Amino acid sequence: MISASPAAAPAAVPASAYDTDDARWAAVQRRDPGADGRFYYAVRSTGVYCRPSCPSRGALRANVSFHASCLDAEAAGFRPCLRCRPTLPPLAERQAQAVAQACRLIEAAAEEPDLDRLAQAAGMSRFHFHRVFKAHTGITPKAYAAAQRAARVREQLPGAASVTDALYDAGFGSSGRFYASSGGLLGMTPGRYRSGGQGETIRFAVAQCSLGAILVAATGQGICAILIGDEPEPLVRDLQERFPRATLEGAEPDFERTVAQVIGFIEAPRLGLDLPLDVRGTAFQQRVWQALRDIPAGQTVSYAQLAERVGVRDGARAVAGACAANPVAVAIPCHRVVRTDGSLSGYRWGIERKRTLLEREGGNQVAGARDQA
Ligand SMILES: [Zn+2]
Repeated sequence: MISASPAAAPAAVPASAYDTDDARWAAVQRRDPGADGRFYYAVRSTGVYCRPSCPSRGALRANVSFHASCLDAEAAGFRPCLRCRPTLPPLAERQAQAVAQACRLIEAAAEEPDLDRLAQAAGMSRFHFHRVFKAHTGITPKAYAAAQRAARVREQLPGAASVTDALYDAGFGSSGRFYASSGGLLGMTPGRYRSGGQGETIRFAVAQCSLGAILVAATGQGICAILIGDEPEPLVRDLQERFPRATLEGAEPDFERTVAQVIGFIEAPRLGLDLPLDVRGTAFQQRVWQALRDIPAGQTVSYAQLAERVGVRDGARAVAGACAANPVAVAIPCHRVVRTDGSLSGYRWGIERKRTLLEREGGNQVAGARDQA
């Protein structure tokens, strides 16, 4: 009965585990969900029968009898417990089915489905559904929906007539306040954000890439910002703070090509970004950023090494500051700088994104940095 193969280890508990009344009683006492469906127990004092995992108050052993099936228990005169509902599939199974159904609903929906609707379809309260969904999938329904949309954008980008089409097809049409209020899918066509009013116009657009929301902005000279985050709105605020006196303008359709190029580059950094950059910084920052651009994809350096390369002794802290001020994620690859011990330290756009980028570049960053340090 018990397999010797280690590969079979996660298999179900052997039936023999519930062979004796003592084993069954032990399973009832620990409310073992693994025993559900193997047998049922009935309580003479209440006239009710339960599945072993039933959360109701414990019974006295003297009042308990065991039954192989619901029919068996009912033939003996017991009725099903209203709490653990022994005639239905086990709770975990029902929850897994409900979550799977919710996933299919999210996948099929053109827009992000409402949490209330998903919960209702699953027959749960909003709060309970959220918890059960997260327990089964590891992520929230919202994150699942976002991941689905990002995947669809990736699938559709090569063949789509335009990035806007791809985003629209992927359900970005009216999801989220930002998109709803912007009127445009890429960028914020109707919106013009003036602060200060000093001469320059910066075009920008917001889209979705596999790393999350991405904002791409350009002056007449080149790309001046690539910002990545969870939500579009903070990225737009970030852009405004970086260029407080410029006129920020939602991008026109011809900017889509640029955005598509940047997204393509984010997905496959090794291809390189064949677009001019227009990055503003102090002379020191510019030096650090140029040194960052000289690090090939797949390699990493430590902050101390980078400081050496720009000719600053004991300048690890100063170059870390310049890395954090980098306005163009990935294009200036500040993700290729790691701690001297090779571990990933902070990243302006989130440490998980740094990890993902380094994995995509396929370098052995941990060992590499340690060897060079
Ligand atoms: Zn019960």
